[in-house]
Amino acid sequence: MKYLVLFGPPGSGKGTQSENIIKKYGYAHISTGDVLRAETANQTPLGVEAKKFMDAGQLVPDSLIIDMLAKTMDSYTDAKGIIFDGFPRTVAQAQALKEMLGKRGADVTVMINLQVDNDELIKRLLERGKTSGRSDDNLETIKKRLDTYNSQTAPVIDFYKEDGKLENIKGVGSIDDIFNAISKVIDAK
Ligand code: AMP
Repeated sequence: MKYLVLFGPPGSGKGTQSENIIKKYGYAHISTGDVLRAETANQTPLGVEAKKFMDAGQLVPDSLIIDMLAKTMDSYTDAKGIIFDGFPRTVAQAQALKEMLGKRGADVTVMINLQVDNDELIKRLLERGKTSGRSDDNLETIKKRLDTYNSQTAPVIDFYKEDGKLENIKGVGSIDDIFNAISKVIDAK
């Protein structure tokens, strides 16, 4: 089974490219953001707790996310591959994922890092906010999310670089061109 970490700042196209990967490769998809939004909509204890952080543009604490991920992953034992979308977002989460996969005798196959500059991200997130119903629909929350990304999430890139798994892909241009670059990386693994 292939384990693909689709990585990048908020607005870099992880959700869009996940859909393309699912269509072409039939992989299972775990988006921690989607799972959290479903928990919030159902007003579960996890959802109620998580919402406070999400609305403030902050990360949900590692312990909650790691438990949630372990449970979600257990339901995908037969998949051809799994896309992790929006996870890991901290080095502690990356370490936890390595341990979880290690217990299955597996490891992350590749980490695809979608690179997009800040101005473009802000433009895309403001546009998405008009229709998404997400809490990051205003400039203040968007800026907080980007700060959180730079301080807590970007260090995950070095974790995978040192682990020999990092593949950088330019996340600007046509969706098809970006997907072709992603496909080449997946096909090479
Ligand atoms: P996303 O849909 O991936 O943009 O995530 C939306 C929000 O959910 C983020 O701003 C965080 O508050 C929270 N979230 C999603 N994934 C994680 C994660 N792996 N670790 C911590 N918080 C997360």
